[in-house]
Amino acid sequence: MTIAENIQQIEAKLGDTTRLIAVTKTKPIEMLMEAYQAGFKRYGENKVQEMVEKYETMPKDIDWHLIGHLQTNKVKYMAHFVGMIHSVDSLKLLQEINKQAAKHNRTIDCLLQIYIAQEETKFGLSAAEAIELLSSDEVATMKNIRIVGLMGMASNTDNHDQVCQEFRNLKQLFDELKTSSPLHSNITMTELSMGMSSDYLMAAQEGSTLVRVGSAIFGSR
Ligand SMILES: *Cc1c(COP(=O)(O)O)cnc(C)c1O
Repeated sequence: MTIAENIQQIEAKLGDTTRLIAVTKTKPIEMLMEAYQAGFKRYGENKVQEMVEKYETMPKDIDWHLIGHLQTNKVKYMAHFVGMIHSVDSLKLLQEINKQAAKHNRTIDCLLQIYIAQEETKFGLSAAEAIELLSSDEVATMKNIRIVGLMGMASNTDNHDQVCQEFRNLKQLFDELKTSSPLHSNITMTELSMGMSSDYLMAAQEGSTLVRVGSAIFGSR
């Protein structure tokens, strides 16, 4: 199957409420252009430098999502174009995104990355840390960011029950935050980013609004 066919097939399986992000890390521009020429415009990269290089070469109407761990000193390289940052895990990072976005007169959509896996190596905030961040007075003053939801990465395991439970835990936190009041005016809980190649269907069933799919579209890395 071609890249365009893979995308079409995955999108057909996702409901109307779940959107696909094509994860293009390590993949060459030619592959992205194949998807772009088929009309697909939402891409995810996990490294800033690689995303910047692709941004500079590709057409400018692409919606770029930064999905990997982000260091504060890298924000400036992408603040002029990035559409959404999925991996916000500290107030300090949020401050820098706000500052750099302001320089370009932009508002950048952000997700808080929540730690849901059992593995030690994953980045992210605990539920309590996320709640603390969301309720901080300082966030309320940030005019150039919007916190639009949560992102999580499930454990890297074949145990479907475990992955399912981790997605449910994240969805539950998402729902709690959505109904908890009052959120600052620059916070809305509308996007839930969870699910990858191996589990995007399950994630969609559990309430994901954004799935991040790489190898199922472009082949293994
Ligand atoms: C690489 C990556 C994905 C996509 O992984 P696949 O298994 O290839 O679908 C999703 N999310 C993040 C954060 C990634 O780094």
